[in-house]
Amino acid sequence: MSALLLGVHAGIAMFVTVRTLSWSYAAVLVIAVLALYLCWRRSIQAVEHNKPLWWILFGAILAKTTALALLFADSLLNAEGTLVMVDPSFYFCMASLLMIAAATYNPTGPMFRWTTAADTLLAIALAAMFYVTLHHAVDPSSPAASASFLILLFDGLDALVALFATIRLLGTRRKDERRFFFVLATFAWVDGICAAAHNRLLSLTESYLPELLLSIPLLVLGVLVSRRSIGWLRGYRPSRTAIYLSGSVSPFVLCLALCALVFFLLKSQPVLAMVILAVALTVYAARNAIVIGYHLAVEDELRLLRRGLQYTANHDELTGLQNRRGLFLALRRALDRTDDEKPCVSLAMLDVDRFKGFNDAYGHLAGDACLTLVAQALRAALTVVPGSVVARYGGEEFVVVLPGIDASEALGIIETVRQDVYTLGIANRHGIDGLVTISAGIATHCAPNPVSAETLLNLADEAVYRAKAAGRNRTM
Ligand code: GH3
Ligand code: MG
Ligand code: MG
Repeated sequence: MSALLLGVHAGIAMFVTVRTLSWSYAAVLVIAVLALYLCWRRSIQAVEHNKPLWWILFGAILAKTTALALLFADSLLNAEGTLVMVDPSFYFCMASLLMIAAATYNPTGPMFRWTTAADTLLAIALAAMFYVTLHHAVDPSSPAASASFLILLFDGLDALVALFATIRLLGTRRKDERRFFFVLATFAWVDGICAAAHNRLLSLTESYLPELLLSIPLLVLGVLVSRRSIGWLRGYRPSRTAIYLSGSVSPFVLCLALCALVFFLLKSQPVLAMVILAVALTVYAARNAIVIGYHLAVEDELRLLRRGLQYTANHDELTGLQNRRGLFLALRRALDRTDDEKPCVSLAMLDVDRFKGFNDAYGHLAGDACLTLVAQALRAALTVVPGSVVARYGGEEFVVVLPGIDASEALGIIETVRQDVYTLGIANRHGIDGLVTISAGIATHCAPNPVSAETLLNLADEAVYRAKAAGRNRTM
């Protein structure tokens, strides 16, 4: 279909001798309307969050079609094509503006409304400045110089659009978005190159064949937009740099382009140039301030989350005591810190007596509540020992780390703990004296001989075993 349309256009350019330009524009217009229809269809079919992107592209093609319609009307009024009556350049600027807006639009992410609004403002300022520059660049005394300057200006704008679209294509992670940016980048490059070639060939040849260069980009767009395949750049994974670049390049490049135009306009329109410069700088600063503020807030939130995660990783959910992980960290720290002044570390393992019987008699929920009460008693009893750590080792077993405490001091402390649990007076039908009690085993290490945390725990565990064997509710 596209080959046929291109063939018809080529036929018109080569063989039609009357009003060739009008016929040629008519052919381009038909192709443009077709591309417009295909863009409209794609916009409707697109995933919800990508719809704005496709609609912006539709708008750009609509502006281009309007410009082509004006050129067509102009060629009807004047077969030589003078552009005196109508001004299609406004619509060409509009098309470029919309394509820049599409390339800078970010359909996802928490900041997209703000950053897109700022980028759109910059893009509008850029297109307006471009339009004004176009009209002030024409110097009637040297039409040739003016024309080549205008051509360069359009080349610059087209290159900017294509570059933007390519950066977005290379930095996009989502498959559905990549499809859009693939279409946009390809169309922007083909369109820019064809326009550059068209503008230069016009002054070199009398032939109407260069007019084909107006159809080619629209045909390419039509083909790309109507393709069903969703495997666009399959397997491509953007690098971190590409992602950063694509997320942050828009305000920088837009401002740079604006500054370049301000430079051109400074002489002929100084006030306008300064106003635009002020707007550009303000928008740029505001955009950055918003983004930085957002990132600072996110950083704060992440710090809190990290703290929470660290707490969860080291603490037991039921009792709020340290868990095994927290215990090993504390124990290793205590063993590393022994010195001449405080050479000992004591470790006590505490096991609730006949706890299986407690669960069987009162149920597991009551068992959980009992473990929580025992944990509270342990914590309360040990707050007086500086640097001590209480952990739930697992099940109904607890471990107490006593840094700087020797064996006899440890015995005194743990005996108090054991009695505190006893005096809680929690009934256990199967327990010693009909109560919840604990058996404890203590192991003490004194520097200088090194010992591993595991060895010390094993020794304490053996002591608990002996306490159990000796009748429970005691410390060994
Ligand atoms: P011993 O005096 O010899 O220590 O007897 P015991 O019944 O306490 O020892 P055993 O190791 O046979 O049983 C421990 C019980 O602790 C078994 C299990 O049902 C219970 N248990 C372990 N973790 C939990 C828990 O998180 N909640 C409750 N409710 N029970 C638990
Ligand atoms: Mg046990
Ligand atoms: Mg037990």
